[in-house]
Amino acid sequence: MPSFLRPFKSKKMRIVHYGHPALRKISEPIAVIDESVRTLADRMTYTLTHNDIEGVGLAAPQVGVNKRLIIIDTWLNKDEPQDESTLSPGERLLNPLMPVALINPEITLGPEEIKSSEGCLSLPGVAGELPRAKTVILTAKLLDGRVIQVECDNLLAICLQHETDHLDGTLFIDKATDDDKKQAESTLRELAQAEARRKRR
Ligand SMILES: [Zn+2]
Repeated sequence: MPSFLRPFKSKKMRIVHYGHPALRKISEPIAVIDESVRTLADRMTYTLTHNDIEGVGLAAPQVGVNKRLIIIDTWLNKDEPQDESTLSPGERLLNPLMPVALINPEITLGPEEIKSSEGCLSLPGVAGELPRAKTVILTAKLLDGRVIQVECDNLLAICLQHETDHLDGTLFIDKATDDDKKQAESTLRELAQAEARRKRR
């Protein structure tokens, strides 16, 4: 059925903020890639790409769903030609598919550590610096069922660590410097209070 004949249903999901319980749960693996998984991936992709603040990734817990599914969109300048020689195997494989849904993603951290400055769509107004592995080996399933295992570097590697942390209930601010945590305190308190008010409504 062409998409314009489908009954209207808003594709955009609400991105939950700090304080929402889904952000602190361990998410469940996806056993079967069925219509509900494809629909969730589709709506999450729409939500990420139609958000007011631009994001490079979105994990299912951020839309209140505790399933191991993430959307990655780290290829920022899609109109510009890429210098393939500077890309990691993971970027060469995944960039052309972005925004791409990854199911049950698992990463093995590489040995080299770098400092990463991060933010999160679920923690608007909060930023922090934290250590991350420079490279990761990613194992995941694509929506078509294909299993991939590939080494990733650059922003893709950082984003994969940030998003897979979400699937285990971990937020970047948990790993940030004490100064950044202190700086974030009042904003996090306000976000949590607003989430609590929403639930009571
Ligand atoms: Zn995040």
